[in-house]
Amino acid sequence: MPCCSGCRGRAKSVPADSRAAALVEAARDGDARSLARLISQVENGSAELRPVMAAITPYPGHARVVGLTGSPGVGKSTVTAALVRAYRALELRVAVLAVDPTSPFTGGALLGDRVRMQDHAIDRGVFIRSMASRGHLGGLAVAAPQALRILDAAGFDVICVETVGVGQAEVEIASLADTTLVITAPGMGDSIQAAKAGILEIADIFVVNKSDRPDAQDVVRDLRNMLAMARYSEGAWKPPIVSASATTGEGIDELAGRLDQHWEWLGESGERDRRRLARAREEVSAIAVAEMRRQIGGLPGQSRLDDLARLVSGGKLDPYSAADELIGESAFNSYGPSTS
Ligand code: GDP
Repeated sequence: MPCCSGCRGRAKSVPADSRAAALVEAARDGDARSLARLISQVENGSAELRPVMAAITPYPGHARVVGLTGSPGVGKSTVTAALVRAYRALELRVAVLAVDPTSPFTGGALLGDRVRMQDHAIDRGVFIRSMASRGHLGGLAVAAPQALRILDAAGFDVICVETVGVGQAEVEIASLADTTLVITAPGMGDSIQAAKAGILEIADIFVVNKSDRPDAQDVVRDLRNMLAMARYSEGAWKPPIVSASATTGEGIDELAGRLDQHWEWLGESGERDRRRLARAREEVSAIAVAEMRRQIGGLPGQSRLDDLARLVSGGKLDPYSAADELIGESAFNSYGPSTS
C-alpha cells in the first residue's frame, strides 16, 4: 500500500512505521497470517518490533492471560485444548502461546502440542502458536511479554500461555499470567517435588489432572496437606485444587469457574493492576538491558567486545578494565555520567 503519492508502486520504500501499522491493522481484522508474522518478528527479535509496539499501543485489549505450567506429561496441552473448547462454547476468542524457555530452538514437544491442538486449527476464533526465543537478544523475558501485547491488541478474550519443561525460566514465564495453573498428575513422582521447588508460590489454581486414574486422590491429598501448612493473610487468594480429566473434559467446567472467580478477585483486590504494573516494569528493564547488550556488542563475532574478550582470555587485560572500556565506548554512556 503506498504511503504517499511519491512512494506509489515502490513497495520497498514504504517506511517501517507504515509497514508495522498495516500489519497490526490486518492482525486486528482477524488475519491469522499477519498475526503469525508479528509473532515471528517477536521470536526473531526483528528490528520491525519497535514500530510494531508503537503501533499497538493505542489498542490495549482486554485479554485475560492464563498460564499453564507443570512437568512434561502431566497433561498441559490436553488441559489447554479442553479449556479452549470451553471458552469457544462461550464464543470467546482464544489464543494459545506455547513457549519453550529451555531451548533456543523449537523442539519436537511443541510440534506435538500443535498437532494435538489440531481440532481447533480451522476455527477462526482460535490462534495457536509455539514460540522459542532464538535470535532475540532479550530472550523470553522480552519476547513473551511482546507476544502477549500483540495477541491482546489483536482482540483475543483469553490467552493461554503453555510452558514446556520445569525450571526457573518456566516460573518467570508463568508469572506473566494473570492466573497461573500449576498442573500435576498421578504417576509423576516428581510433580509435587517440582511444585515444592518453587512452582508452588506461583500457583493460583492447582489442577490434578488424570483424575480418572485411581491414584489421583493421593495427589490431591498431598497437595491439600501441603496447602494446609501455608499461611495466608486476610483477603489473600487461597489456591483451590481442581480435579480434572482433560481427556474426557471432566472437571473443566469447574476449572473455568475457578478461573472466573480468580479473575474477579484480581479485579476486586487490586492485584490485577499490581501484577500488570510489575510485569511492565520487568518488560521495560529487560528491553533496556537487551538494548545495552546490543550496543556493547551482545552477539558474538561483531564487535569490540570480541577484541576485549580476546585480551582478557589471553591474560593481557583484566575483566574490570575491559568492562570499563566497553561501557566507556558505548552510546548509552551518553545518557549521563555515573555519580559514583
Ligand atoms: P504435557 O506434556 O504436559 O503437555 O502433557 P500432554 O497433554 O501431552 O499429555 C500427556 C499424556 O497424558 C498424553 O498421552 C495424554 O493423552 C495423557 N492425558 C492427558 N490428560 C489425561 C487425563 O485426564 N487422563 C488420562 N488418563 N490421560 C491423560
